[in-house]
Amino acid sequence: MSEAKKDRAQKKGSSGGEAKAGGRSGIRRAKRKICQFCVDKIAEIDYKDLMKIRKYLSEKGKILPRRISGCCAKHQRQLTTAIKRARHIALLPYTTD
Ligand SMILES: [Zn+2]
Repeated sequence: MSEAKKDRAQKKGSSGGEAKAGGRSGIRRAKRKICQFCVDKIAEIDYKDLMKIRKYLSEKGKILPRRISGCCAKHQRQLTTAIKRARHIALLPYTTD
């Protein structure tokens, strides 16, 4: 009695597990990004430092969202301000055609 039950359970378990594993092979784990400004220990982002700022602009000249840039809240805010300042004095474009 117990043997039959065990056998059934095993069969069910193994087949189900295989199917699940196969279906979940394409799972994507978000890689944890770390704020580059924190790594470099930059207290304030310089709007004249185009080499750093430029990386956080999209092709169209838009500011990348935090999800993509990986910046922390503090630095993302500073970055936004820096980019806006840089745009104002025409160091960076508002848009690119
Ligand atoms: Zn940061």
